Amino acid sequence: MAAETHLFMCLKDNFGVLLHDPETGATAAIDAPEAAAVEAALKAKGWKLTDILVTHHHADHTDGIVELKNRYKCRVVAPKAEAQKIPAVDETVKEGDKVTVGKLVANVIETPGHTSGHITYWFHADKLAFAGDTLFSIGCGRVIEGTPEMMWNSLLKLRDLPGDTRVYCGHEYTLANIKFAQTIEPDNKALQARAKQAAEQVAAGKMTVPTTIDEEKAANVFLRADVPAVAAAVGLSGKTAAQVFTEVRARKNKF
Ligand SMILES: [Zn+2]
Repeated sequence: MAAETHLFMCLKDNFGVLLHDPETGATAAIDAPEAAAVEAALKAKGWKLTDILVTHHHADHTDGIVELKNRYKCRVVAPKAEAQKIPAVDETVKEGDKVTVGKLVANVIETPGHTSGHITYWFHADKLAFAGDTLFSIGCGRVIEGTPEMMWNSLLKLRDLPGDTRVYCGHEYTLANIKFAQTIEPDNKALQARAKQAAEQVAAGKMTVPTTIDEEKAANVFLRADVPAVAAAVGLSGKTAAQVFTEVRARKNKF
């Protein structure tokens, strides 16, 4: 049976998301920004929490873990490279490992850059990826612990996933990301279409996620650092994609 998901807002602009296996009843929270919001979402769906899959150690992704674990006795899975910074971890995972939620199976993809041990959970059979603060809708995470080149390589791994993979991310930043992307690619038709769609979604009180890999390839400037027109737009024609990405990311930091 197909996986079900339930997306909701937490804290100021964090997304919370539940992943449910209807066959076994298993339910995972991807990150735990806030226990109360996760519990309310579980209640709304009538699901019982069995697992928390952590993408990275930041407090706005982990603050709810202890309270949820105390209540549900759920298993906490976290990236091996930063497990010591995450509370109540039961199982650590690294590149190539598999994580199951009931009968749903994820591959672990290491996507460092935002933090040095950040991971993405890719449920290939269900065409779902939970990218935390690595890939956002029309954006990418700030490079805090890694290097821009490291982040670019992580984004390339995600860009290589099947185009119809639905991507869930950690924050609702889409409108601000679009505003920035349009400073570099004002004539990108896919970006223009996305700007219209996202504005309509937000006006209707809807969330702008999930996105897909294909939509991001077409409109997300951070996945397009190897497109000659993007290099030209930031004055770096002929430079490497990593150099172009570094410049685009630096401009976003000042935007
Ligand atoms: Zn973060």
